[in-house]
Amino acid sequence: MKEIVVLGSTGSIGTQTLAVVAEHPQVFRVTALAAGHNMTLLANQIMRFQPTWVSVASRSDAEALYASLTVEQQSRLHLSWGEAGLLELAAEAPGTLVVNALVGAQGIRPTLAALESGKDVALANKETMVAAGPLVKATAQRMGRRLLPIDSEHSAIFQCLQGNPIDSVARLWLTCSGGPFLHTPKEEMANADLQQVLAHPTWRMGKAITVHSATLMNKGLEEIEAHVLFDVPYDKISVVIHPQSIVHSLVAFTDGAVLAQLGSADMRIPISVALSYPQRIPLQHTTMDMTQLGSLTFEAPDRQRFPALELAESCGRRGGTLPAVLNAANEEAVDAFLHGVIPFGEIVDLVAEVVTDHHAIDQPDLAAIEEADRAARKELRMRIAKAHLLSRGRTP
Ligand code: MG
Repeated sequence: MKEIVVLGSTGSIGTQTLAVVAEHPQVFRVTALAAGHNMTLLANQIMRFQPTWVSVASRSDAEALYASLTVEQQSRLHLSWGEAGLLELAAEAPGTLVVNALVGAQGIRPTLAALESGKDVALANKETMVAAGPLVKATAQRMGRRLLPIDSEHSAIFQCLQGNPIDSVARLWLTCSGGPFLHTPKEEMANADLQQVLAHPTWRMGKAITVHSATLMNKGLEEIEAHVLFDVPYDKISVVIHPQSIVHSLVAFTDGAVLAQLGSADMRIPISVALSYPQRIPLQHTTMDMTQLGSLTFEAPDRQRFPALELAESCGRRGGTLPAVLNAANEEAVDAFLHGVIPFGEIVDLVAEVVTDHHAIDQPDLAAIEEADRAARKELRMRIAKAHLLSRGRTP
């Protein structure tokens, strides 16, 4: 029986993680769940999976949840909230694997806490690897723990690499659906509304990551994630557009062989690979009929229309605190777009401005990473505020 802690249990990856667990009650047991504000869904999950440790975003959420539980549940539940709650679950809840399905940079500390406490981490939170990759990697190595990727591209590469020495890798090919604007002219894209941006052609995901996928920043961040996870230099990492989202990434080896992992666009598959590693477990409704697939196509990304790729690559190559700044500025800009504060076309431009002004620090510790993150968010919000004042004809 594998005991699992799920951080971010009510989000897209969290609910699909629990769907995988529910198919295999003899293999997995959920000991702890952490969620944000969706107390109705969390209460259902507590009923269904009987965790003994639960953490929520705030004290008021905790109170609301507590009131909705039966007396029996109240008596055996260890309930906490906020960042302290996440850290407590990651470090102290029983289990050998933490599934980190948190959104954004808030995932960094719980990942470190889980590794420090001797747990493996299945990582859906790519911001952790982008902002604090070398630190997280070093902690995993020191503790002799595994980092198992849940991001579909990295899961694909992870699977293709099994049994192959990393120095035989000639190139990692990260596939990219191209998002909703694959062939949309730049001017049209600049003012795309929320509905158009959220209409991802192949994957159903959370809101923020769907916006990251529309600018292709998501793919840029994934290049950084791949570099850190697999120790492959940026010169050997490339993005290829594959609109069908059937091939989830490929590895080319020095002998000319190319391995790919195929499957339907269903996150339960990479989740189950991470949860069951080094075994495999069956999953319902995942079979693919090759005779019905038709053609699979591959093309180069348009780097002019999607400058996020170049931007992310240059931040990754520079390293230090710069990837953390890129990630933080991007999160803030996307948040501003989601709240109708800036147009879609300004997201990447604003992020580029913040990144360009940052003086990177090499080999940052957690404090330096968090400070760079905070400063980048503040800088981005100031730039937006300034631009708004200027557009109203006032000097800031
Ligand atoms: Mg991905």
